[in-house]
Order: sequence, then structure tokens, then C-alpha cells
Amino acid sequence: MEETIAAIATAYGEGGIGIVRISGPKTFEILEKVFIPARSGIINRKLTYGYVEDPKSGQKIDEVLAVFMKEPYTYTKEDVAEIHCHGSMVSLRKTLELVLRQGARMAEPGEFTKRAFLNGRLDLSQAEAVIDLIRAKTDKTFDVALGQLDGQLSQKVIHIRKALLDLLVNVTVNIDYPDEDIEEMTYEELEIEISQINDMIEKLLVTADTGRIIREGLNVAIIGKPNVGKSSLMNELLKETRAIVTDIPGTTRDTIEEVVSIKNIPVRLTDTAGIRKTDDTIEKMGIEKSKKTFNEADLIIFVMDSSREISQEDQEIIQYIGDRRAVVLINKIDLGKSWNREKVETVMPNASVVETSLLKKVGIEEIEQVILDMVYSGEVKQNESLMVTNVRHKELLEKAKDALADARHMTLEREALDFIEVDLKNAYEWLGEIIGETVSDDIINEVFSRFCLGK
Ligand code: GDP
Ligand code: ZN
Repeated sequence: MEETIAAIATAYGEGGIGIVRISGPKTFEILEKVFIPARSGIINRKLTYGYVEDPKSGQKIDEVLAVFMKEPYTYTKEDVAEIHCHGSMVSLRKTLELVLRQGARMAEPGEFTKRAFLNGRLDLSQAEAVIDLIRAKTDKTFDVALGQLDGQLSQKVIHIRKALLDLLVNVTVNIDYPDEDIEEMTYEELEIEISQINDMIEKLLVTADTGRIIREGLNVAIIGKPNVGKSSLMNELLKETRAIVTDIPGTTRDTIEEVVSIKNIPVRLTDTAGIRKTDDTIEKMGIEKSKKTFNEADLIIFVMDSSREISQEDQEIIQYIGDRRAVVLINKIDLGKSWNREKVETVMPNASVVETSLLKKVGIEEIEQVILDMVYSGEVKQNESLMVTNVRHKELLEKAKDALADARHMTLEREALDFIEVDLKNAYEWLGEIIGETVSDDIINEVFSRFCLGK
């Protein structure tokens, strides 16, 4: 890790300030060449006013504030410098070019955080939390990522691994010195210990569904025949909550997809154009896309018109939904009711039913509550911030759980301890991958390749 790296650390585009960050052994040397302090010299950790100047031509590039931070108490645990330029791409680009010309190399995406990990300042799950923090679109997503950065998940994993290690030591001693005068472990005791460790893993795993939704968002497909109120639903939820990605000021629009924050949960709403058979090619493409959205959705909202009798098309949709997770909106209750809750519940026993008048703004709060209840189902509480949000972590926990199941099975069968030991070791290593303790370079590279430049 001898190379010194540099990148623009702030978002591209216009801004009040923009920052060029440098990390590595040549940081000070490079900073001294390009930064001319206006008064005093460069003092460790002191933000200093001055100019970025091309040392060759003497040409001034920008008026800046710069700071040098001596290792090891820095983001990367290496020498780090930040040059705070005016937030213009011209200044930032020129300053970066100048820094690179003095011997730094352009940082890869996530490389600063990767160094923080490789130098032992963050473990892998904490490093992963950094990118989740940056991408978080709701308060809740941010809080959960902050908890992970703080080491909440790591501590749990370390705790479980410690218990596993104690058990492993016990098993190994019994294998290696079976006749010695050491405390013998019975199969019964072994079984109890394995079950206890398994319980700890399962407790983490039950948070994984909610955690994924908090991190990646809830995919909701809105379905229903024409004119029942699908666009009205999208618009009401947009007005009521907050659009996350688009912010076109809002009269009624016929957008297909919107990302909103509903009670702090990122939700991607998609209006599926319809799923009816058709001969029209363009329509066919739309229908294929709708089916895909529908199949991948975490939740389906089926909108029906309360004022009209159920039609063939409604029937088809009900069949298509089958026993998927669904909310049925009986909309337009202001126009009269040929449908009510009970009637729908007999046809779709698994669905949650909400009666609405989107025109009169009745029932919208209830829709939001139903969505919230689906996200925090079962044991996962709303104020919980320790959750497994990352699929990589979930898969590793599942592998560890499987290994423990094997170990437990063999214990019950009274198999040789050598075999049981292998599975316990595997579980220990799978858990180690979560925090990056036992992890291959491929996985590390994969994790950091998802980062943005300059982080
Ligand atoms: P979509 O085709 O399913 O997207 O339906 P729209 O949202 O475009 O709504 C079709 C029409 O029904 C519009 O004129 C809406 O104003 C109207 N509409 C939507 N919800 C209600 C409701 O609750 N009551 C009444 N009376 N009209 C509604
Ligand atoms: Zn519509």
C-alpha cells in the first residue's frame, strides 16, 4: 500500500465547496507542492487558508482551505489531506490533475474506505455501512446504517463467534486428549450449546426481511383495471408522503414509477399497465413489463371500483394474485358500495382490505399503516436499529445456521467429535466473513466496487 491516492470526494456538479482528498505516504509532500498557505505553514489538523498553485507555471488555480491529518487517526489510518476548493468542477478537476501530476494515483471507487478496512479501522460490515449511509433515502435507512457503522452488527457477530470458539476449544480438547484428566463434554451438553448458538443466529435472521426492505426499499405493484384509481393512488401517496427521486411539482400525473417515503420506509410504487391478453405489439411489451414488476413485487395493491359490480377482468386479476401478499383497495366508496370488506375477504382470504375514496382523501392513512405493518411483521420492532440489511450477511448467517444444523444432527446421532468439529469450524468461518475476518480478496473487491468515487 505504498501508493498515494487522490479523488474528488464531493458530489459532481455545482456546490458551495468541493473537496479533493489525498491519502497515503506522499500526502504531505504533494500538498506542500500544490498548496501555498497565505500566512503560516501547514500545521497538522489545522485548516489553513491559502491557494492552490501550479508549482511549474506558478499559475493560481483556486483560493482554498486545506488541512493535513497525520496518520494513524484518520479515515484511512494513513496520512490524509483535504483541499476545500470552490465547488466548481473546473477548480476541482484542475486541482485533482495537479495532485495527480505530483505522484498521486486516481483512487478507485471506495478505495479510501477499503484502506480503512485493510488498515483495521473498520471491519467489513462497518465499511459496507458507509455506502449504505451515503445512499440512504429515509431517516430509518440512515439510522440502521449508522448503527451498523457503529459496530452493532459486528458486536453481535463477534459475540456469537466467541461462543462458537469456546465450544470449539472444548470439542478439540476432547478429541485431542480423550484420556487425559480433563472435563469431558457429554453429547447432551454439546447439543444444548449448539442450540443456544443457533438461537442467536436465528434472532438475527428474523430481522433480514425487514432489513432488506429498509435498505433497498419495498417494491409495490399497483394493479387494477382502467379507471379504478391507480394513478390517483400514486398521486395521493406522493402528495401525502414525499417523493424521493422525482420532484416535479404536482398536478395529476400519469407516471409509471415513483419512489416515496412512507412512514420512513423507502417504497417503490409501480403502476402496472395491465396484464390482459392483447394482440397489439406495443401493448404486449407493456404487459410483459407489468408481469415482471408484478412477479418481483414485495407487495401488491389491487385497486377496485366499489361502485361497480365485479367484472371478468377483476376476476382474472384476483386469480393472478392468488395467495400473494396483497392489499385490496375498495375505492370510490363515495359513489356507493357494491363491494365491502367482507365480500372481498371471502374471495381473497389472505388480503388486507382498505376502503377508500381517493377523491375525497378517505383511507390514505390506513393504506400507509397497512404497508408499515407488513414491513414490521412479527418480531421486528419499529424502533429497532440492529437489523441484517445486507443480502451478503443474510446468506452467510444462513450458511452458518446450516452448518450448525449438521453439527447438531451429528451430535444427536452420537457421531465422532472430529466430524462435528468440522461443521462448527465452518460456522465460525462463515460468520467471520460478515466482518471480513475470513474473507477472500474477490469478495473484498466485490464489496468495494459498489462504492462511489472519492469515498
Ligand atoms: P386509473 O386508470 O386506474 O389510473 O384511474 P385514475 O386514477 O386515473 O382515476 C380515474 C377517474 O376516477 C378519475 O377521474 C379520478 O378522479 C376518479 N377517481 C379516483 N378515485 C376516486 C374516488 O375515490 N371517488 C370518485 N368518485 N372518483 C375517483
Ligand atoms: Zn392511470
